[in-house]
Amino acid sequence: MEDVFCRIIKGEIPSSKVYEDDDVLAILDISQTTRGHTLVLPKRHYEHFLDCPQEIAHKVFDVAQRIGQAEVSILGAKGVNILTNVGEAAGQSVPHFHVHVIPRYTGGEGGFQITMKGQDTSGMDLPRLAMEIKSAIK
Ligand SMILES: [Zn+2]
Repeated sequence: MEDVFCRIIKGEIPSSKVYEDDDVLAILDISQTTRGHTLVLPKRHYEHFLDCPQEIAHKVFDVAQRIGQAEVSILGAKGVNILTNVGEAAGQSVPHFHVHVIPRYTGGEGGFQITMKGQDTSGMDLPRLAMEIKSAIK
């Protein structure tokens, strides 16, 4: 079964289009976590950011940047969260790569919060961890 974004791209499900070119489509998220909440997606199906070709990922993030700039200039947004979730464990709800552009107005919107809490790292060998990750980068 096709995911909802593939069906939107095919025109089988209506959407409010913000931007479109040969490779990229941007639509308003129907949930509107904040006013102007936009999703930027590649027209070809890739499950998530990590399996998307670099050239397409660059195009998607380029459009996300331009939409963020537009929203700051015309919606009165004071900030923007630009993020992509990879996998269910990270909160990805539709298995088709997409980037959220979420304008922020007060910083305290109830519908959206990101909290990063540090953890005790005394039991971690950070230099070793850095080396493990470094050696795995292709
Ligand atoms: Zn898809």
